[in-house]
Amino acid sequence: MSTSHIGKADLHIHTSYSYDGTATVKVMLQYIAQHTDLDVIAITDHDEIDGALEALELAPYYGLEVIPGIEISTAEGHVLALFVRKLVPPNLSLVETVHRVAEQGGICIAAHPGGRWSWCLSETAIQRALRHPGVAQTLLGLETYNASLPDLRMNDQAAAMNKRLALATVGNSDAHMPWMVGLGVTCFPGNHAIHLRTALQQRLTTTAIMPRPHYYMASYLKGQILRYCGLVHCTTTPGGRAVLRRLSVTKNWPRNQPVAQNSR
Ligand SMILES: [Zn+2]
Ligand SMILES: [Zn+2]
Repeated sequence: MSTSHIGKADLHIHTSYSYDGTATVKVMLQYIAQHTDLDVIAITDHDEIDGALEALELAPYYGLEVIPGIEISTAEGHVLALFVRKLVPPNLSLVETVHRVAEQGGICIAAHPGGRWSWCLSETAIQRALRHPGVAQTLLGLETYNASLPDLRMNDQAAAMNKRLALATVGNSDAHMPWMVGLGVTCFPGNHAIHLRTALQQRLTTTAIMPRPHYYMASYLKGQILRYCGLVHCTTTPGGRAVLRRLSVTKNWPRNQPVAQNSR
């Protein structure tokens, strides 16, 4: 491994397998390959693994390295599971969730912690979990920057929280649309997923931030309205333009409804 290379990873990306993802796996991968310089990405759909597994299979065709993951809705808030290939059920306690991820050889990252919403892990919940045997070996990182928060100042709170918790610092986009990928990035010595994992364990990661474009909210809302109607960016034309198509089976908004099957 060349330690002089600083790798870039975006470890929080949604596809149309998420109830609120607006582009298929293929469209996401094509965009990332053409428009970003990320070394590693993770696909982390809400309580779904199929999109991540599809991305893992397709990654070599796009020259990308993909970590399969899930954004798990624990009873205490959202947590990212990385390096997993089997679904972990939602609504378990944070401790039980972390143990289930560890059983698969995976690791966990606290997603957008500290917000006032029920899907954000509180500092107390993370601290309490870390006191349980084995949890600290798996719950390695915390998003000190999430580019999709309605109010980006929430990230300051997460960064302050991590000064006390001393987990690895992680920057992610939480992209629900292709152009959002890379707005938040985790930097690490090396250029492969294995190096990233080591860097998380050794607390060697840093974050990099891209400014959010002015059309962010309008574009995001438009995407979510279309998604609510079952329309996602499904295929790309030879010129690279994504076209909208209705999912063959729509996963209803919000989650915990029948599982989506993407048109391939
Ligand atoms: Zn979340
Ligand atoms: Zn997310």
